[in-house]
Amino acid sequence: MKFRVLGCSGGQVPGRYLSSYLLNESLLIDAGSTTAVLKLKEQQKIRNILVTHVHLDHIMGLATMADNLCDNCQTTINVWGVNEAISGLKASFFNGTIWPDFTQITGNAQPWPVLTLHNLPEEEPMAIGDSTVTMVRVNHIVPSVAFFIENNKKTLLHVGDTGPTEKVWSMARSERNLCAVVLEASFPNRLQGLADMSLHLTPQTLAREVEKLGRPSVPILVSHLKPQYRDEIIRELKRLKGFPLRILKDGDSLRL
Ligand SMILES: [Zn+2]
Ligand SMILES: [Zn+2]
Repeated sequence: MKFRVLGCSGGQVPGRYLSSYLLNESLLIDAGSTTAVLKLKEQQKIRNILVTHVHLDHIMGLATMADNLCDNCQTTINVWGVNEAISGLKASFFNGTIWPDFTQITGNAQPWPVLTLHNLPEEEPMAIGDSTVTMVRVNHIVPSVAFFIENNKKTLLHVGDTGPTEKVWSMARSERNLCAVVLEASFPNRLQGLADMSLHLTPQTLAREVEKLGRPSVPILVSHLKPQYRDEIIRELKRLKGFPLRILKDGDSLRL
């Protein structure tokens, strides 16, 4: 599968883009920077969006993309997430105050709304586009999830913002076709207290999560570095041993 990093930054500054990843051109994971990076034609190819959680740095692009594509898309785009995230999007984002309700508005040339929201069942494989997606909860300050995304006999595990967690690793241990894990490291080790309080990882707690996974040959793709600590986090990540690690960069294109 083609895995394109539109943005993987844990904060926004010029030249760094918020979390958003594109699989095979039509499946989007999070929408932090989607409209800042993708051309309109590329936005029109998106059919499904998986939302890890509803923190603004992961959903901003849903608003701007809906605005771009209203009356300008060939079909509704399905947005999938855990039930609290979906109800949060309805109540607090597409609520007619913060932004128009693009889950209801239809256009002149388009009888369907741009976005259709769906609760994704937990820990149950679900066919989405040409992939099979299994969602499992992780451990963040708001409900946040990981997605096992199986496509063409390979499984990518994309973990949303999280502190230390368990269930996802017990499931990943027995996932035969696991080809890579996207995992966050938001803060440097010296800010461990802040990371614990906000339920994020540092390089040292990332290493403990990777130990729980117990699959030393599976590449760990590190994401969500806060730009103000980026160099320090990278130095600490580079000291970790025992598993293949790649620090993702905005614009990366990987063939998994
Ligand atoms: Zn978050
Ligand atoms: Zn985040």
